[in-house]
Amino acid sequence: MLEIHNLSKQFGDSEVLKGVSLKVPKGEIFTIIGPSGAGKSTLLRLINLLDTPTEGTILLDGTDIHKEKNMAVRRRMGMVFQKPAIFNQSVYENVALGLRFRQIDERVIRKKVADALAIVGLTGFEERKAKTLSGGEMQRIALARVLVTDPDVLLLDEPTANLDPVSVRVIEELVQRIHHEFQTTIIMSTHDMFQGQRLAHRIGVMIDGKFAQFGTPREIFTTPNDRFVARFVGIEN
Ligand code: ADP
Ligand code: MG
Repeated sequence: MLEIHNLSKQFGDSEVLKGVSLKVPKGEIFTIIGPSGAGKSTLLRLINLLDTPTEGTILLDGTDIHKEKNMAVRRRMGMVFQKPAIFNQSVYENVALGLRFRQIDERVIRKKVADALAIVGLTGFEERKAKTLSGGEMQRIALARVLVTDPDVLLLDEPTANLDPVSVRVIEELVQRIHHEFQTTIIMSTHDMFQGQRLAHRIGVMIDGKFAQFGTPREIFTTPNDRFVARFVGIEN
């Protein structure tokens, strides 16, 4: 469903993505693991049309998304960032924001917000000031904001990087729950290799702008295919 061919991204003189190719089948949880600076966020931002590739193509069900660049493609995807963008409004308004730019009746919005808040475990929080909630709760608001749009593809860029261990588990369980309920295709980056192990159907290890290896968590952790992967997963002496 999502196919990336030979994707490169250059910022000035530095080539941040160096010919990335990747296929993520519909309904897969694919985790990008790799050290800080490897290019994980850049890749996710290109998939979400937040930036333009220097070379290469990204196809969503056969459509070249950067060529089309239309709202229809964009609307099929939702992204959650490491640091959630929370506005100084109620939880309800923060979640409804996901639908504000679409011509949707307020009654429908109310129902979708209620459903999304139920999924993320924030029912009853509608009127609370979003800014007064904890980091983990804010990240759940960000997830709910994306869920109201019924995305086919969920892009999660290190969504637990700033959270305490308990909140990390809550978000991980939520990711699994969303996948289970909606069969959403999920592409999630993390610098935590164990998170990849816990969540992913398949992992891509990104090192220095390229995928060094693809495999199931088991394959990556038992048979890393080079010393960089081995070092990253911590099984090299
Ligand atoms: P990761 O998410 O794996 O930590 P990033 O994709 O954020 O990696 O960054 C990869 C590299 O690209 C880093 O060296 C970073 O400094 C650089 N980079 C990212 N965005 C920009 C930008 N807008 N301009 C210049 N360099 C950038
Ligand atoms: Mg990043």
